[in-house]
Amino acid sequence: MAKDRILIVGMGGLGVPALWALARAGARRLTLVDPDPVELSNLARQVIYRDRDIGTPKVEAAARWLVERFPDVKVEPHSVALDESNAARLVGAHDFVIDATDSPVAKFLINDTCIVARTPFVYGGVVGMTGQAMTVIPGETACIRCVFETPPAEDEIQSCREAGIVGPVAGAIGEMQATEAMRASRAQTFSLSGKILTYDASGPSRVRITAVSPRPGCGCGASKQEHRESQAPGR
Ligand SMILES: [Zn+2]
Repeated sequence: MAKDRILIVGMGGLGVPALWALARAGARRLTLVDPDPVELSNLARQVIYRDRDIGTPKVEAAARWLVERFPDVKVEPHSVALDESNAARLVGAHDFVIDATDSPVAKFLINDTCIVARTPFVYGGVVGMTGQAMTVIPGETACIRCVFETPPAEDEIQSCREAGIVGPVAGAIGEMQATEAMRASRAQTFSLSGKILTYDASGPSRVRITAVSPRPGCGCGASKQEHRESQAPGR
């Protein structure tokens, strides 16, 4: 059976370009999760939303946009926040998850739920002119807790919110996340597993890819896996 059920959590600055790129690339089964309605301030950057969508849940406006243009796509909108009560069920029903949220708490919840469900996912984050993406293969490559250990403090989160996000940076990161999702559905090797891609739109060297190792002691178990492989005979 095709492993092509993709869950996108967040239908904002990252989720919208990811959705568009997935539809163009031929994705067939998409589930969208976001609790928020379309607001006037979304229209400039999140280009699939229109004036008439203001007040409508983002997932419903996005699903309508999608089926009008890509009638072959099966889309399931959920106008809810991903939380402890629904995360395991939603993640468990999919083959790949795109973290397009802007909340560190949600990012750690996606990480932890995907680790338990053994579902690969791609993290994405944008602050100001800088964006990052990393794919996590649970138990095999570094997870978000391997890299960051704990969610940032509330004042750090606040300063990130104030820095805002820049549309083209979010667009680039969202498209990269979509590419990783399509690799999952085609059983191709991920480009960003065990690596963090950083896209800096302010400086001259724009894209940097940094290898990240699993952190010993992280509950995701990827470090033990790496250890086992290095101990295996013939390696
Ligand atoms: Zn980890």
